[in-house]
Amino acid sequence: MKQYLKDIVKCVKCGRCRTVCPSQNVLGWESSGPRGRMLMALGCTCDLEMSRGMIDGFLTCTTCHQCVSECPSGADPLEITRVVRRELIDMGHVAPHQIEIMNRVSGSGNSLGDESPRTSWLDIPVDAGSFDHIYFVGCLASYRQQETTAAIYSILRQFSVGLLEDEKCCGSPLYRLGLDTSELIEHNSYQIKKAGAHTVITECAGCYAMFRGQYEFNVVHLSEFLSDRLEQLPLKRLNITVSYHDPCHLGRFNKLYDAPRTVINHICTLEEMKYSREKAGCCGGGGGVRLGYPELSSMVAKDLAANIPQGMDYVVTACPLCIRNLSDIGIKTIDLAELVRMSMV
Ligand code: SF4
Ligand code: SF4
Repeated sequence: MKQYLKDIVKCVKCGRCRTVCPSQNVLGWESSGPRGRMLMALGCTCDLEMSRGMIDGFLTCTTCHQCVSECPSGADPLEITRVVRRELIDMGHVAPHQIEIMNRVSGSGNSLGDESPRTSWLDIPVDAGSFDHIYFVGCLASYRQQETTAAIYSILRQFSVGLLEDEKCCGSPLYRLGLDTSELIEHNSYQIKKAGAHTVITECAGCYAMFRGQYEFNVVHLSEFLSDRLEQLPLKRLNITVSYHDPCHLGRFNKLYDAPRTVINHICTLEEMKYSREKAGCCGGGGGVRLGYPELSSMVAKDLAANIPQGMDYVVTACPLCIRNLSDIGIKTIDLAELVRMSMV
């Protein structure tokens, strides 16, 4: 933690990003915002004993990246919060939702704890051939969006994209909670090398950020892959108007803003939210907050909902957590992959 002292001290004297922090906006406490979290991290460097309230302060960060994007001096309270979460675990402070996600992934290989086969959506066995590109499907798409996943894969197969023989969770939900992901990274990396692939295509924002930050392969978002091939795709235009929600881990984390919009504009009419791209709101689902603090998570989603234009047929996004969190508060939210499926002829 001492190596982060310079950043921590910057934040403790500043606080400029407090107004953009979704958890602080809802909860109101300094300890639920970036500066407060850094003040508590300063305490960690002096072996201050952590109270329950302080631990909750670290665990209510949605990992939205707004503080990092807003910071004029390059501080990174988000990364420091993640490191503190890991240190708290090492000290024996493990929250029930951290145990739950750990058990789900270690028992089933996916973040849902679903014990059925991961590729049950596929009507043929996984082709064990060699591929330059593989489609890393992700947990939610494998188990909760199977029809859409099958449709998207039917497109990707035409471009010689393969699947992993034994895909497991990318590790993102664990990583953001400070949990160990080394075995998952090792397992998936071995599978990718075994498939002979140099590039991973993924659609889930969490998988995308995880592959970008923690794996050593080229990563392409599904929208980037499709937007380069739109004229070759069997898609028809739909007479609907949608708005696009930039998932934090795709947008602010990785500055991927244009490709999803290119795909949407090809299919239907897009109307932007009041705040979008770098300034997009957070859905409140990330960083384990949906699982550990559902009430806070839902209140953050409601703040985001105020940003959506009236009369949209759908809100489109590219993150399963955003879909679930926004759907739970009554917003018709679909995955970009689902929009593509709807437009397939
Ligand atoms: S992250 Fe930057 S803007 Fe936010 S409190 Fe720290 S120094 Fe200030
Ligand atoms: S990442 Fe988001 S929720 Fe976490 S401290 Fe920064 S602004 Fe707040």
